[in-house]
Amino acid sequence: LELRRGKVDEMIRECLELTCMGRKNLTLDLHLDLPESLLVGMEALRQVVMNLVGNAVQAMGEGPGILRAASRIENDRLLVEIADTGPGIAPEHLGKIFEPFFTTKEVGEGTGLGLSVSHSLVTQMGGELRVRNGEEGGAVFTVNLPLSKDDE
Ligand code: ADP
Ligand code: MG
Repeated sequence: LELRRGKVDEMIRECLELTCMGRKNLTLDLHLDLPESLLVGMEALRQVVMNLVGNAVQAMGEGPGILRAASRIENDRLLVEIADTGPGIAPEHLGKIFEPFFTTKEVGEGTGLGLSVSHSLVTQMGGELRVRNGEEGGAVFTVNLPLSKDDE
């Protein structure tokens, strides 16, 4: 995947703005704390963030909700966390959601490919994509990527 020096926080903000446009009931809770620019697989990471944010917004539906996005460097790795206040993920589905074509959505609403593609993109970048349910409900997805050598 192509590495490019760019503004990751700005990319995350763009994904949120695009996806949350017109969703008046959604509150954004942003903790974007990355350095100004980083060398990353920017377009792959954008695709991953778009998938995660899209799922989060869909999970919260029309009701009021909070979408939390956090980014930071920790132990020389880039962390991006996307959390929502939707219903979370049923325990029996936690082990399946990264499989291709796994979806709980109606036909036409979901293909079940977003998370499997995201998972393989993150893996190709040498990173990890993880999921858990938050302590107060909702789903929490974490992208964890190694930083490229000249950014360590
Ligand atoms: P799709 O969105 O097309 O269903 P995905 O691969 O993006 O496919 O997601 C697979 C499934 O994982 C979803 O159908 C849903 O059951 C579950 N899921 C993903 N993100 C969330 C979320 N934020 N909250 C609750 N469930 C989720
Ligand atoms: Mg999806």
